[in-house]
Amino acid sequence: MEIEHVKCLIIGSGPAGYTAAIYAARANMAPVLYQGMQPGGQLTTTNEVENFPGYPDGITGPAMMIELMNQAKRFDTDVRDGWITKVDFSGDVHKAWVNGETEIHADTIIISTGATAKYLGLESEQKYLNLGGGVSACAVCDGFFYKNQEVVIVGAGDSAAEEAHYLSKLCTKVTMLVRRDEFRASKIMAARVKNTENIEILFNTETDEVLGDGQVVTGVRVFNNKTQEKHDIPATGFFVAIGHKPNTEIFKEYLNLDETGYIINEPGTAKTNVPGVFVSGDAADHVYRQAITAAGTGCMAALDAERYLAAKESVVEAEA
Ligand code: NDP
Repeated sequence: MEIEHVKCLIIGSGPAGYTAAIYAARANMAPVLYQGMQPGGQLTTTNEVENFPGYPDGITGPAMMIELMNQAKRFDTDVRDGWITKVDFSGDVHKAWVNGETEIHADTIIISTGATAKYLGLESEQKYLNLGGGVSACAVCDGFFYKNQEVVIVGAGDSAAEEAHYLSKLCTKVTMLVRRDEFRASKIMAARVKNTENIEILFNTETDEVLGDGQVVTGVRVFNNKTQEKHDIPATGFFVAIGHKPNTEIFKEYLNLDETGYIINEPGTAKTNVPGVFVSGDAADHVYRQAITAAGTGCMAALDAERYLAAKESVVEAEA
């Protein structure tokens, strides 16, 4: 089978990947971008995006991703269906396989594979998530839609604590469901939540069912896992903050990852430990996780890749 050689391979099609593509294409790197399993990335599961600068009236997540894709295509990014199933970064040329078949050799690779929010997996949760009817894994993205309303949030880590606190400033009441009798979050974050008047913390409490009218969430049935007692909490929003899984499994043999699987970049750059391989977006970011920060690091990755190629080419010219 013929092996394709490209200057710049971009893996992933969220705001990080498309921004990297726009910059790489405009720098004549003829990027090839593989969209992956979820073309458009996490934003395609969001309704309205109101915090991305440049859209004063807001825009839906899927519509924004189509605009980003079209902008990348306008500068001749080769946007392709398919996902990268395997890589080999052991040599000078970086290898990647598409759908387990086609082999690509790339001078530079930009990883923008993102992270996937974890959900509880309850049927009712997935139903209202898919309907866009009140289930969310991002308080910063969607909290505003629940202004002056009552919401429930699941989780007890730093994300849940931070998001509960964020929601408490918008919502009249936030009920936090903690499955054990203690927080996982750092002491200071947990204390902030405990000291916020309109946050009620229910320990040893899990979700039995997300309640709704068939269109939107109207409440949450919870149970105490010590007593098995159930009760209903009225709420219009159900926030899940039980962690994210970075989509970095195929890179672990070659790249330095932290203990939860996020790619470790050289601070202030998009560089990984492998020269010529760069990372952008949520695959390396467990803290900010915003579309705009992903886009920013996508830009950084393309600029770093361009500089890497330029330096390599000037060495080749000097040797010739
Ligand atoms: P974590 O993995 O730290 O926490 C996940 C939380 O979700 C845990 O409390 C866990 O409960 C709970 N959980 C998991 N599954 C379920 C379930 N099925 N039902 C109910 N609860 C469940 O994830 P985070 O996203 O909070 O944080 C990830 C990393 O990012 C951490 O290292 C964190 O410190 C860091 N971070 C730092 C921030 C900051 O410093 N500003 C902000 C946000 C994150 P249990 O405790 O019982 O396992």
